[in-house]
Amino acid sequence: MASTHHRERAVDGRTLRPETLMMGHGYDPSLSQGSLKPPVFLTSTFVFTSAQQGKDLFDVTSGRRMPRPGEETGLVYSRFNNPNAEILEERLALWDGAERGAVLSSGMSAITTTLMTFLRPGDTVLHSRPLYGGTETLLRNTLSVFGITPVGFTEGTNPAHVRDAVSEALATGPVGLILVETPANPTGGVVDLRLLTEVADEIGSRTGRRPLVAVDNTLLGPIFQQPLRHGADLALYSLTKYAGGHSDLVAGGVTGSAEHVGAIARTRSAIGTNPDPHTCWMLLRSLETLYVRTERACDNALRVAQFLHGQERITSVDHPAFLATDDPARQVLEQQTTGASSTFSFRIDGGEAEAFAFLDRLAVCKLAVSLGGTETLICHPASTTHSGVPRDLREEIGLTDSLIRISVGIEDADDIIADLAQALTRL
Ligand SMILES: *Cc1c(COP(=O)(O)O)cnc(C)c1O
Repeated sequence: MASTHHRERAVDGRTLRPETLMMGHGYDPSLSQGSLKPPVFLTSTFVFTSAQQGKDLFDVTSGRRMPRPGEETGLVYSRFNNPNAEILEERLALWDGAERGAVLSSGMSAITTTLMTFLRPGDTVLHSRPLYGGTETLLRNTLSVFGITPVGFTEGTNPAHVRDAVSEALATGPVGLILVETPANPTGGVVDLRLLTEVADEIGSRTGRRPLVAVDNTLLGPIFQQPLRHGADLALYSLTKYAGGHSDLVAGGVTGSAEHVGAIARTRSAIGTNPDPHTCWMLLRSLETLYVRTERACDNALRVAQFLHGQERITSVDHPAFLATDDPARQVLEQQTTGASSTFSFRIDGGEAEAFAFLDRLAVCKLAVSLGGTETLICHPASTTHSGVPRDLREEIGLTDSLIRISVGIEDADDIIADLAQALTRL
């Protein structure tokens, strides 16, 4: 199997950085005719060397028994595992310093498969707000049919506010999982991960069941924020976004302990939320440039944010650069992040009509949902990504008709700024 024959992760006592390990970790060229890069393993199934081996592999892959000391797990069937997926999982885990990673067919399937693994009918999910529109809809519409109740909080850095939500959640049913998104899409709202792990411990000692803390780390991760290092149990990803980074694939991922991620991987095998080998191969390629892409996009974003901040027709810019020094969100960001996302929001003077007029005048910035790609994308969340969120809730979380979200890419920053400037002056 490809993944067990990887090279050393240290040279001369120096632990190699993920940026270095992305080029080869988890792949042994000698298993693929010396090919420098892993081939795409376009196969649905794998040949056993003996009937006994087939039996052993099924017992271990299904979780019926743990591998014996020295026994290698192996490849069985591409819904369960595949070399491209396994190499990718090893590399994904490296960024977060995680014991294990798992890849899934989309960000939503990573979230859904995780929720299905840890929730039972009657449970509540304590969650931050706003969540990605798809996650909000999943919790409110899809999962409510299975007896799962979401309870949200909006001020993720305010202990009293979060603990009020805990009381409300516990009055509704056992808290099966805590799901937070930080920074939040699209408003940049911040959740204090230390606070949430404390809250999970408190729920554990009060009820005897400690919920896991799962963090949707799509907007910053894994480069500028590693939730597992701040006490979270699981980091969830839409790999479609920064990790994939070229707006040409859809995939998801999760990192955490071998026990928790193993449980999610078994649900994945059961329900078939696995990614295909070609997508995994594309992601391996993407991860080689993830660090430089993320850095460049964030540098560009800061310059774009500074430009927008000075504009008469722009009423506010939700970029962390403009948080007051005594803002609790700034303090939490300094604790748990090492950079700001290249995706942020700003408000235009007016409402939907003014926002649309501005968007329709842009030429370099492409009008599309999604984020984290090499190109700058811009959209109007209230009418697109978050249109499924009821209006009163949208207003409560600051997702108004004047809000515009931009995901700054890796183009020349001055070209992006010139485009925004010409659209503003012609309003
Ligand atoms: C896009 C996104 C998702 C969903 O991911 P898909 O890959 O589109 O399924 C989840 N969370 C966040 C924060 C996202 O931006």
